[in-house]
Amino acid sequence: MLTAVVGINWGDEGKGRMVDLLSERYDVVMRYQGGNNAGHTVVNNRGKFVLNLLPSGIFREKTVNVMGPGMVIDVEHLTHEIDSIREKGVEINPEHLVISDRATICMPYHKMLDILEEQRLADKKFGSTQRGIAPVYSDKYMKKTIRMGDLLHPEELKPRLADLIEWKNLTVVGGYKHEPVSFDEMWAWLEKYAMHFIPYIKNTTTYLTDAINNGKSIMFEAQLGALRDIDFGIYPYTSSSSTISAYAPIGAGIPAQKLTNVVGITKAYSSCVGEGPFTCEMFGDEAEALRAAGGEYGAATGRPRRVGGFDIVATRYGCLIQGATELALTKLDILSYLDKIPVCVKYDVNGTMVDQFPSGVELTEAKPVYEYLPGWKTDISGCRSFSELPKQAQDYVKYIEKAVGCPIKYVSVGAGREEYFEM
Ligand code: GDP
Repeated sequence: MLTAVVGINWGDEGKGRMVDLLSERYDVVMRYQGGNNAGHTVVNNRGKFVLNLLPSGIFREKTVNVMGPGMVIDVEHLTHEIDSIREKGVEINPEHLVISDRATICMPYHKMLDILEEQRLADKKFGSTQRGIAPVYSDKYMKKTIRMGDLLHPEELKPRLADLIEWKNLTVVGGYKHEPVSFDEMWAWLEKYAMHFIPYIKNTTTYLTDAINNGKSIMFEAQLGALRDIDFGIYPYTSSSSTISAYAPIGAGIPAQKLTNVVGITKAYSSCVGEGPFTCEMFGDEAEALRAAGGEYGAATGRPRRVGGFDIVATRYGCLIQGATELALTKLDILSYLDKIPVCVKYDVNGTMVDQFPSGVELTEAKPVYEYLPGWKTDISGCRSFSELPKQAQDYVKYIEKAVGCPIKYVSVGAGREEYFEM
């Protein structure tokens, strides 16, 4: 099996717990895009861990974890992430963590430019995570970044880095009127945080090809959701990478036709962090109650997330764009307090009813059209099969499945590892 596990909506769909659950079934777990701009919490018998960069199979001894060519890696962040895991007794070594020679290094000046730009934008800011992701991906496509494999050739890397910094300072000093980036500081940073990864760096395509030929199963773990995809998301309020399953073979370095299935993660209601169009958004007491029930506050910042009912229009689109072959529906238990369950069934775009996800100004102007399904008003966190769910909850699951056009295979009814069932 070569499976992509992806988000269907705006992110925070509860991917962490599904990925943790599913990763057990695969020999190799691979991250294929993004950087440390998102993450998830994994709770296991060794403690609670926040993973931003490492693939989520890192806690399983027999799983090989691969960081793919499509990733952008802040090696300082990765060093700290690994240290915090090692502190709790988890061994991390080159047998069990492989980093692509083609993965891009996210430098301190990328992070700095992210912050400078958000400061310049002031109240027009996008809500960037300020981890340097947009600047480093932009540089990648300008062909002006360094890659993990360059670390293997420091003598060639030095003059190249000097050239890159000279170019970068045109923007830093000329544009933002900031102190110039210093070559010596950047080189010292690479020596401190990057060079110790040399034993982990490999040609991951060769590695994966061998794994596939030997019948190993591989899970491709995406970060963020379909609606944050640079091409198909709510641009410009997207991430700077491709978050969709179609990018998995590219960001991983395997032939496109090898992927066997795509598990899409969607939540029983909607949430969205930061700015940008979020049509199904609810406000006031209704929103506050859902936010509190679902614990929808940013993992890092504690910032309240925007919330709304399940959005059929956005989720059907998410499934389509992801090519989802099966869905995991998370946090169904959160809706148990509601007398009636809100579902956004259509968008009203200036008086026209729309059921295809729009883009641009149409999306910004869309208003939600809500319908309500009967609630079940009882705790369902103990249910371990579909038949154990109350009738109204069964109807809700079946309704969503039909409306979005993709089979629901997993339903989670609590944060605990066992609190889910397969359909
Ligand atoms: P992610 O980044 O996609 O993993 O999503 P979040 O950052 O929003 O994390 C989801 C949170 O919800 C975590 O604290 C999970 O432990 C929790 N969670 C996941 N699935 C369920 C569920 O089915 N029910 C409940 N009550 N909590 C869940």
